[in-house]
Amino acid sequence: MLRITNRANTGFKPVLFVQAALHAREYFTAETVTRFAEQLVAGYGTDPDSTLVIDHHDVHLLLVANPDGRKVAEVAATRAQRKNRNQNYCAAGTTTVGVDLNRNYAWNFGGPGSSSTPCNDVFRGPTAFSEPETTAITAWLRSVFTDQRAETSLGDRTTPVSVDAHGFYIDVHSNGAGNWFPWGDTTQLAPNGARMQTLARKLEFFNGYEAIQGALTGVIGGASDDFVFGTLGVPAFTMELGGSDFWPDCATYESSIAPGTIASLKFAARVVHAPYRVPAGPEILSVATAPGGSPGSVTITATVNDGRYGAGTGPEPTQPVQGVNVYAALPWSVSPPPPAIAAMTAVDGAFDEVEEAVTATIPAGALAPGRRLVYLQAVDSAGNPGPVSAGFVDIDPALLGNGFEPVGR
Ligand SMILES: [Zn+2]
Repeated sequence: MLRITNRANTGFKPVLFVQAALHAREYFTAETVTRFAEQLVAGYGTDPDSTLVIDHHDVHLLLVANPDGRKVAEVAATRAQRKNRNQNYCAAGTTTVGVDLNRNYAWNFGGPGSSSTPCNDVFRGPTAFSEPETTAITAWLRSVFTDQRAETSLGDRTTPVSVDAHGFYIDVHSNGAGNWFPWGDTTQLAPNGARMQTLARKLEFFNGYEAIQGALTGVIGGASDDFVFGTLGVPAFTMELGGSDFWPDCATYESSIAPGTIASLKFAARVVHAPYRVPAGPEILSVATAPGGSPGSVTITATVNDGRYGAGTGPEPTQPVQGVNVYAALPWSVSPPPPAIAAMTAVDGAFDEVEEAVTATIPAGALAPGRRLVYLQAVDSAGNPGPVSAGFVDIDPALLGNGFEPVGR
């Protein structure tokens, strides 16, 4: 497990968990999640949103969830290996040995889309959680996610989760090209299903993969996504990357798979404090800061947009932007939540459009000296708050109050 967070910050931190290569032959899922980690860390101190995520969120990345399967899949002759390598099942096979880990979870175990035949590629194993991989992963998930769903029993498909729940689970596969949300084992709409659809359509804006309830692509019992949402209450997605097969050429990968997928994971990392709520609200784009008009003041500008969604299944209403606040501390990082230090104004004089250019001037002394982040959050006219975005501002302690204007970044 690769865990990325600022250990010096010890307050509440919502969790993003991303898993790759549960199916061994889906090579580039591991590569993509690894690159996401590299870019996230490289952005610390230079990219404001990456810095926000590392300082205030907790990112858990399982880069290769099926390591012995992957080892076999890296040999050309056996690259079709999908399952784990449990020799108790189909031991005489070449790439048909083992258990399909994404049929081995306890949610609707034995259900549709799985097989009881050991040499089958979707062999589910003898019992739910018979495999060390699924057992260990689930123990980890239970240790890092707060259980926020009070299901009546395993298999309860109707009990909703609070819209203010936190956390986000993503299991990355290929090559179905979709952002799949629960339920995956029935076409019945999940509680929180409409909210998860909005979240999926937001991911689709970045990665281009269709936002769709998993079951509408084929029903599957025993998969990880339904189990995680059903028992822990965090939105639990299967992100199916694209490509013509499991082994796309490098040019296709570099141009059409990696950039969008990594951008969607970066978005996911930013919304884990309220993944059911903030995807419906306006995004803050292109935050910039500059010296203000009076000594020591800082001017902050941004573009705000409530309409960035993919074209996949289902609607998401877009509304005019209603307002934008600036905070000196993240609202969920301190208790009680801090008051805004400024309310931004619309550059054109009125908040009446889906996209607005906004500005605010922070007076001298409102921010402590040093390099620090300011946090922006917008709300639309339906009352939906959006994802928080950050911007850097540098305030030189030696010169503050001497008529020096701080340098904006
Ligand atoms: Zn898969």
